[in-house]
Amino acid sequence: MSAGLCPVSAGSLPVRTRAAAAATRAVNGLSRRARAGHGTVAGGRVGLALDPLLLERLAAGRPTALVSGTNGKTTTTRLLAVAIEGALGPAAINATGSNMPAGHVTALAAAPPGAPAVLEVDEGYLPRLIATLGPEVVVLLNLSRDQLDRTSEVRMVASKWRRALAASPATVPVANADDPLVVWAASGAAKPVWVGAGLSWREDAVGCPSCEGRIGFAAGEDGGWACRCGFSRPPLDVRIDGDDVVLAGGRRLRVALALPGRFNRANAVMAAAAAAAMGAGWEDAVRRVGEVDEVAGRFAVVGVAGCAARLMLAKNPAGWRELLDLVCPGERPVVVGINARVADGRDPSWLWDVPFERLRGRTVVATGERCRDLAVRLRYAEVPHRTVRDEVAAVRAAWMAGRGAAAAGPGARRAPAPVAASSAASSEGQVDFIGNYTAFTDLMARATRTGA
Ligand SMILES: [Zn+2]
Repeated sequence: MSAGLCPVSAGSLPVRTRAAAAATRAVNGLSRRARAGHGTVAGGRVGLALDPLLLERLAAGRPTALVSGTNGKTTTTRLLAVAIEGALGPAAINATGSNMPAGHVTALAAAPPGAPAVLEVDEGYLPRLIATLGPEVVVLLNLSRDQLDRTSEVRMVASKWRRALAASPATVPVANADDPLVVWAASGAAKPVWVGAGLSWREDAVGCPSCEGRIGFAAGEDGGWACRCGFSRPPLDVRIDGDDVVLAGGRRLRVALALPGRFNRANAVMAAAAAAAMGAGWEDAVRRVGEVDEVAGRFAVVGVAGCAARLMLAKNPAGWRELLDLVCPGERPVVVGINARVADGRDPSWLWDVPFERLRGRTVVATGERCRDLAVRLRYAEVPHRTVRDEVAAVRAAWMAGRGAAAAGPGARRAPAPVAASSAASSEGQVDFIGNYTAFTDLMARATRTGA
């Protein structure tokens, strides 16, 4: 609940705030009708211009959780909203990843007073939102290098989180105990919940934030860590063990997750732990998160110019590593797409941190506006590939190559029969597409138009 603001009903909001909320909704409605976007930012900006305290006032009186970290924010936000629905009802949520104040205002202006709020928050904005909203729960996923031209160094982000949490004693951080930087941040809080969610990307976590020594990790992704100064993984309140969630007392709950991958099991246990901290039952929360099968288009199988493609989003080296872990045991053709617009970060040098070597032996097509940077990286990784700048053409080229490899006969060169998006659930003949942010959203938009 907001510091200095009392719980309110819609009727008790100041006239200015009600007008600003109405303007937010109206502008977003116009924006959606004009197809000028998702209608998630323009209205929020107008609302904040009319009432600079709009966010605090709309958030007052709601059970509120903030979700932040470099990887998994959008998915965990959705999973948490679903997990608390049985206990607290439908939540206000910024589902499309507009994770700065204009997006938060939009989510809250559209929700009834008193409804819970689950908000994805940009890492840099989190300290400010902790201070102004005083949320019940803050979910801290991980911190790794991302958007090198825009974001602060992760150690600086961790220090700012730590100061904000120390100054907000009523806020409970639900923190990934396998990331030392997250533990450093959450250790400033009064009552953290420590979750053993695993950490596959450790390259940003080896320097001890306490003494600047070197942190040693035990073998395995969840084996714990410690520094000589005594800074080490805290005792866990809950952890993942295979497909199970294990509570501190030893109780096990099976998570039957529709979303694929180790990282989504990690997101699910973080969401369930946060839901429990907000008053949901563990069994109910775990069952509900298992039913989510797609988040904002991620992992959707769509039709792209007559081909079937599974869409995946990776924005930074940690995210790419997780998705390469997911796709590399398979044999499908893989299309990798890179843009470098403002929303992606203008500097694509992070490509050199991604273990593309793992794609050796696969049919690979490089695409997107920075396909040539990607092609150089793939060349040094000794991954034979084709370069096709247009994403739709790239998916089609990969699909044709995959069918050619599978058929290896005279029919291999025949044009493939169109695949409808609705019938594309079969994995046979599918292409895996992994793109960074705008490469992913561009293809998703074109798939919607061209699919089926
Ligand atoms: Zn140390």
